[in-house]
Amino acid sequence: MTDCLFCKIVAGEIPADKVYEDDQVLVFKDINPHAEVHLLMVPRLHVASLNELTTQHDGVIAHMMRTLPQLARQQGLKDGFRTIINTGKGGGQVIFHLHMHLLGGKNLPGFG
Ligand code: AMP
Ligand code: ZN
Repeated sequence: MTDCLFCKIVAGEIPADKVYEDDQVLVFKDINPHAEVHLLMVPRLHVASLNELTTQHDGVIAHMMRTLPQLARQQGLKDGFRTIINTGKGGGQVIFHLHMHLLGGKNLPGFG
């Protein structure tokens, strides 16, 4: 996936404000934050969206879900946080490399 922006960030070809990484995921600040804390968590492996998930991704998806609350705590979000996954054009997805938005703190937007 040579023309995938998030693959390029994972590969270090494009800079990002990284806050966490491990063998399965990378987490960096959203370039256009919608709240005081707005992070994007991406799997290192390219998967376009939830629509492309298969059972081979079960491990990384579980890992992402378990890592989110740890990150939220590290960011000082003691009262909770919001997680958003946009899927497909109709779901508002712009970057077709699966990512989870982690939002919290001041200016947390409502839905809609
Ligand atoms: P989505 O609509 O779920 O596909 O969200 C894509 C998100 O990626 C948006 O919130 C953008 O602000 C964010 N984004 C786009 N380019 C970059 C970048 N180079 N570094 C960090 N975040 C980005
Ligand atoms: Zn990708």
